[in-house]
Amino acid sequence: MIVCKFGGSSLADTAQIKKLEAILASSAERKITIVSAPGKRHKEDIKITDMLYTCHAEASAGKSFSESFNTIRTRYMEIGQELGVNTSKLEAELDEIEKNIQQGNSADYAASRGEYLCAKILAEYLGRDFLDTEGLVIIAEDGSVDPVTYDLMAEKLSGNPNYIIPGFYGSTKEGDIKTFTRGGSDITGAIAARACNAELYENWTDVSGILMADPGIVHHPKPITEITYEEARELASIGAAVFHEEAIAPIRDAAIPINIRNTNRPDDPGTRIVSHRDDQSQPIIGVSGKKGYTRLFVKKLFLQKSPDFILKIKMILKVHGIIPEFSSVGFDSISLFFDSDLAINKEEILTRILTDLEPDEISTDARLAMIGIVGEGLYDSKGIIAKVTSAVSDSGIAARYLNYGGSLITCVIGVDEDDYKTALEAIYSAIA
Ligand code: ASP
Repeated sequence: MIVCKFGGSSLADTAQIKKLEAILASSAERKITIVSAPGKRHKEDIKITDMLYTCHAEASAGKSFSESFNTIRTRYMEIGQELGVNTSKLEAELDEIEKNIQQGNSADYAASRGEYLCAKILAEYLGRDFLDTEGLVIIAEDGSVDPVTYDLMAEKLSGNPNYIIPGFYGSTKEGDIKTFTRGGSDITGAIAARACNAELYENWTDVSGILMADPGIVHHPKPITEITYEEARELASIGAAVFHEEAIAPIRDAAIPINIRNTNRPDDPGTRIVSHRDDQSQPIIGVSGKKGYTRLFVKKLFLQKSPDFILKIKMILKVHGIIPEFSSVGFDSISLFFDSDLAINKEEILTRILTDLEPDEISTDARLAMIGIVGEGLYDSKGIIAKVTSAVSDSGIAARYLNYGGSLITCVIGVDEDDYKTALEAIYSAIA
């Protein structure tokens, strides 16, 4: 059995939905289908999910949200009419949702209705069964999947059914609708794939798989045909819009391959995410990066020998919602790197460290970018890190940070934000 998940661009309008229909019809194995809410039809368009959040925000501010809701209504009615489904039923569903938002239902409820309605329309149009995830996908307070979900889902998916399932939401143990983080339909697809022990999890989107670098920065980066779960997670964790990083965990243990495919080019093979790949011929699989890092530098004599001191710095950061993504401990000093957007209370944090810990020196640098070079073959190859650092220095750029060894498959190099694009291009050329 193949589990298919279609993202918002594959559901943006009826023309896209017809492509989805043809993809499902081309293999009898494609039985379980997870759908996102309709996404953007063009660059300036707004995703249904974003519009639903707006409706909720307007309603909670006591404002009228009928104009925003009518845009949503028009979009669904248009899709419904063009596909020839029962529009009075659809209208009644929309009325009910509008009423519930008006009556103060949560933001998660509002956002979840994008996937809910989309799956309902699709099920009717395709003559398949709708399977709601409310009460079936159980989401814990911290957003993780409650393990009971797998048993509940396995029971529903036994007997080879033909389901259309809404992605992105489930409910809490107490029965309230709860969503995953944005892009979370990937997680629903992964849950279904694991629950029915699918032979393959296909993730249909609007690109023909993962590229070795961001095409917005690097000119025509090469496509990746095969990447491991670990590599995909590492690339995503440092900026690549690969695949929802939380969606890999449910299927990694079951070793179900993921195939990222393009709904608009269904003959393209896409990228396969697998347990193992041949890393001899291609030690590095890709590069990704992110701007917007702050370095906190603290110096104190014999700091390395005082784990308490380091712990106290981390505790002060944590109180302000900061958990550093990278760190480096020297003999007398430490550097901690975190998202600059989290450092809203920077002055307060610095004062607190100064008064509580009396360091010899403390400073911050707020305009850093990190670039990750990822590949299962990194550890056993010789000279890759030298190539990367030479590429950076040959471009006249100073490396501000280098981290290798925390993960054996990723080397992270920090540069000034202004040098980010040039550094990323140079590194890509050196390793591709
Ligand atoms: N519709 C949701 C979002 O826009 C979830 C998803 O598409 O996976 O984030």
